[in-house]
Amino acid sequence: MALLGIDIGGTKLVLAIGDRAGKPIKSVRRPMRLSGDWRVDLEALVQDARALLAEAGIGEGEALERVGASVPGPLDPSRGILRNPPNLTNWSDVPIGSFLEAAFGVEVRIENDANAAALAEASFGAGRGVSNLVYLTMSTGVGGGVISDGRLVRGAFGSAGEVGHIPLESPGVPCACGLSGCLEAYVGGKAWQDRLRREGVAKGAVVELAGGCRRAVTPEHLVTAARKGDAWAREEFARWLDYLARGIVPIAMLFEPERIILGTIAVAAGEALCFEPLRERLASMLWTHQAEHLEIVPAALGSEMPTRAGLAVALHGLPRTTA
Ligand SMILES: [Zn+2]
Repeated sequence: MALLGIDIGGTKLVLAIGDRAGKPIKSVRRPMRLSGDWRVDLEALVQDARALLAEAGIGEGEALERVGASVPGPLDPSRGILRNPPNLTNWSDVPIGSFLEAAFGVEVRIENDANAAALAEASFGAGRGVSNLVYLTMSTGVGGGVISDGRLVRGAFGSAGEVGHIPLESPGVPCACGLSGCLEAYVGGKAWQDRLRREGVAKGAVVELAGGCRRAVTPEHLVTAARKGDAWAREEFARWLDYLARGIVPIAMLFEPERIILGTIAVAAGEALCFEPLRERLASMLWTHQAEHLEIVPAALGSEMPTRAGLAVALHGLPRTTA
């Protein structure tokens, strides 16, 4: 028996075949081609998946057991309906669950990308061995996935666990979600970069790394300059950590996770620049027993995530109810 994992992003598509335990056997990655008609785009995806399944001999000797898909939100996971993801033009109220079920003739499970990533880290990465964890994507935006008592927390309509939009300031800076003062508006890569460009505050080594152009400064430049000991970059990074710690406190209070897993920017910043000072901050912001029991760790899957996310959903996603 085999599983098919699908990871649909705004710019790329990854298809992966895994064994019954979710271990990848074969995968393919290609740009996400958008024709303007979601039916055409999904049909092309199905054709590519069929080719991959045929290459792996699935459907002849071995049977396909289930399909899992990681998709950009917002999504109704129980009905398998993709609402209106900003990066997928003309994909609006797409019944992706029933479409894929009709194409493959097996059960299809679908989760939004942050929840799928949380499931993948829980099954194959930094979340192994615990049943209470929160995953924060920490890249362009701050996506979140919460696993509590071994179950993904989805909420009534699929939007629970969006910890990137916990409010930290009121009034606060505008967030891409339409609200303001959100955690993402202070620690998300895009928001951070926008602030540095808007306010022109970047100085010294950071601007040099960006080729002398303030408008070209990225979070990666800040990480590099802070690592080299640049005073301004370190100060800016400390501000970022202050906000991140303030966002983690309500997460810890609400869910009491054993482990919080941080993605991209935190992984790049590493132990000395990010994780150690973050733990120090949290030690004085949480109750002692909470801080002692809470592990803050880097995500482990990295570039493997797109291959693993769909397979993790196939294994642990929510079974779709009839729409
Ligand atoms: Zn927001």
